[in-house]
Amino acid sequence: MSKVHNFSAGPCILPDSVLKQAGAAALNFDGLDLSLLEISHRSRNFVAVMEKARRLVKELLGVPDGYSVLFLQGGASTQFITLPHNFLKEGGKAAYVSTGTWAKNAIKEGGLVGEIDVVASSEDKNFTYIPKGFQIPPDVDYLHFTSNNTIYGTEFHEFPETDVPIICDMSSDIFSRPIDVSKFTMIYAGAQKNMGPAGATLVIVREDALGHTGRNIPSMLDYQAHIKKESMFNTPPVFSVYVSMLTLSWLKEFGGVSEIEKANKAKAELLYNEIDNNPMFRGVVAEEDRSIMNATFVLNDSANEEEFNQMLADGRINGLKGHRSVGGYRASMYNALPLESVQFLVDIMQAFAGKHGN
Ligand SMILES: *Cc1c(COP(=O)(O)O)cnc(C)c1O
Repeated sequence: MSKVHNFSAGPCILPDSVLKQAGAAALNFDGLDLSLLEISHRSRNFVAVMEKARRLVKELLGVPDGYSVLFLQGGASTQFITLPHNFLKEGGKAAYVSTGTWAKNAIKEGGLVGEIDVVASSEDKNFTYIPKGFQIPPDVDYLHFTSNNTIYGTEFHEFPETDVPIICDMSSDIFSRPIDVSKFTMIYAGAQKNMGPAGATLVIVREDALGHTGRNIPSMLDYQAHIKKESMFNTPPVFSVYVSMLTLSWLKEFGGVSEIEKANKAKAELLYNEIDNNPMFRGVVAEEDRSIMNATFVLNDSANEEEFNQMLADGRINGLKGHRSVGGYRASMYNALPLESVQFLVDIMQAFAGKHGN
């Protein structure tokens, strides 16, 4: 049977070698004759997994001293409500940038905790660009933005410069490129876009920025409680942490984030080039803000939709349908997607144009 080319936006493609190791550990972990899924998270063997996962995050992203790395439950969506509890002072105010569905969810949840000032938005043009050059009031407790807008296909290629603490949802582009962690007070990401299976949420947080809000924070929402217990305040999502650890090891072998960035750029360039030159298609977002991870595009003539969809199905291409709120197509090209899958898609797009006399 031919290979499936997996452009799923999330949960996403993982390296074959990682899936094989994960499968083996589900049956017999560390030679214990027990499944990883049926041993204590406090066992020496699992504690070693958690430690290795946290160490790999620090190593791959160059996380400086003074930051804690946590693997929590509840997805990035739970961080939308957790982070304002930890950083929005009683009577304070936070600045948010509205660049899409996830950013709006973060704004909504933040508003349940305190005052939110939406300092920039691209909603006027259906989130097809990244706002730039906006003012950030100096008295806000933090600035929150979403580095990659998974649904619309835009990405911050340069981060906002400000003296206020910066908090970033990097769910769909973390580990896709080098970042300077020291510029951020907190970074978070659901595992299932570029790191592992759903279930774990990565939080990287500056320790000395915590404990200043004057709030009573419920324990499960309190980063300091999780830090104190080394990310084991309660039962962690063991399988997701394990598979994330394997993926991060794979990334290290690959050469780390600067090497994967080159591969990701090559994939994105190949596809965007085709979108721009193929008369059947067009991109939907501002060129300079195009995401390296999620490329969105549409057919110039929607009458051809059924035919193109059939070609995708025949080619065993998975996950290319755009998000239900946007339509069109979205090719998610996360770290583990090989260039050959993008080339395969490009070949189909060219064959489709050929059938229409182009
Ligand atoms: C998918 C996604 C989320 C939501 O993640 P969950 O883990 O499902 O809560 C949040 N932010 C961004 C940028 C995403 O891509």
